[in-house]
Amino acid sequence: MKLLPRNHKRRDLLKRIAQTSALVFLGPAQIAWGGKLLAVRMWPAEDYTRVTLESDERLKVNHQLLTQPNRLVVDVEGIELTNTLKELVAKVKSNDPYVSQVRVGQFQPKVVRLVFDLKESVQPQLFTLDPVGNYQNRLVFDLYPTVANDPLMELVKNSAKKSAALEAEDPIAAFANKDIPIDKRIPNQKAPTPSEKPQSRRLLTIAIDPGHGGEDPGAIGKRGSREKDIVLSISRKLKAKIEQEPDMRSYLTRDGDYFVPLHTRVNKARRVRADLFVSVHADAFVRPNAKGASVFALSQQGASSTAARWLANKENSADMIGGLNIKTQDHQVAQLLLDMSTSAQIKDSLKLGDAVLKQIGSFAKLHKPHVEQAGFAVLKAPDVPSILIETAFISNPEEEARLNDQDYQEQIASSILNGIKNYFAKNPL
Ligand SMILES: [Zn+2]
Repeated sequence: MKLLPRNHKRRDLLKRIAQTSALVFLGPAQIAWGGKLLAVRMWPAEDYTRVTLESDERLKVNHQLLTQPNRLVVDVEGIELTNTLKELVAKVKSNDPYVSQVRVGQFQPKVVRLVFDLKESVQPQLFTLDPVGNYQNRLVFDLYPTVANDPLMELVKNSAKKSAALEAEDPIAAFANKDIPIDKRIPNQKAPTPSEKPQSRRLLTIAIDPGHGGEDPGAIGKRGSREKDIVLSISRKLKAKIEQEPDMRSYLTRDGDYFVPLHTRVNKARRVRADLFVSVHADAFVRPNAKGASVFALSQQGASSTAARWLANKENSADMIGGLNIKTQDHQVAQLLLDMSTSAQIKDSLKLGDAVLKQIGSFAKLHKPHVEQAGFAVLKAPDVPSILIETAFISNPEEEARLNDQDYQEQIASSILNGIKNYFAKNPL
């Protein structure tokens, strides 16, 4: 009679042993067979092309560069050739600046070989990333050109005509009255207002920084809109408007769907000798009714509010989600530079932020009526007034719809430009 419960117990015990031994058995087997490949992604861009293999376990790789023709051969240990991996072949875009095609094959048992046929020689960076956000383990190959593109050369080339036109103009002749005392002027000739005054004979350079990109989608709305797409669209509209201005030119720190580390955005702005830096984002919050646009400047002594600090931390995590190779020297040098922020920069940034906030507030709802401050990494160029604009809350369904509206995007872009113009009118260089 007592056997029944005991039997139950024994069965339980046996079951548990079976489970345990299954685990014991699976352990070494998993090491032998390696991880499961979850996804492959490719992000082609002029700056560099990235390939990501996402897996449930960290993968090991060996690589070699071959010439004539240029190829990158990557052996990935511990995975089998699966359909997911074969998808990589179809993911190569014809306009990829660096990769012409990818071939994949089972090189040895448990070693998959990827061969990237290259359009030119590259400097590859291979590194792994630990699980973060929605991502599991990532193995990343970044293919950089041997000679990096110079953003300044590109900008100078694109704006040469405009620059020559501006220099050909004689501001003294155009505004002949400005040096004549008011009482000597003929009637009805008023003194030029600051906005009419020629501030400079050189082009003003605006660095526009579309947030996120590539592996980092930024915030995602209920309907699936991704911050990285919306802010790129707004930024391109802003660029088009700036290009219409005779005395301004602009530079996009990202003009495609790929990841740009925060310090690289700052470095690019400094390289093009930007007069201003404007980072474009779309906010998200757990409460779906949070709404309105906000403008931020850097802070050296803590954030102006808890929400601002929270947001800065969230935006600063872009490097982790986007996938930064922290071993590069570039990154370490940048860290030193970014600690040099000056209070003069912040003062100008607050003025710029205020001018832009006023313009946005003239047609859209504002989240806060003043410029907020926090330690945003992307605003740390010590010599460039820099602001970060959260154009609206993508997490608010109503604002998500508006952010997708082309007219609204145009309006936002116009208001940013008007804010910039008002800033320059009051603070000529
Ligand atoms: Zn953002």
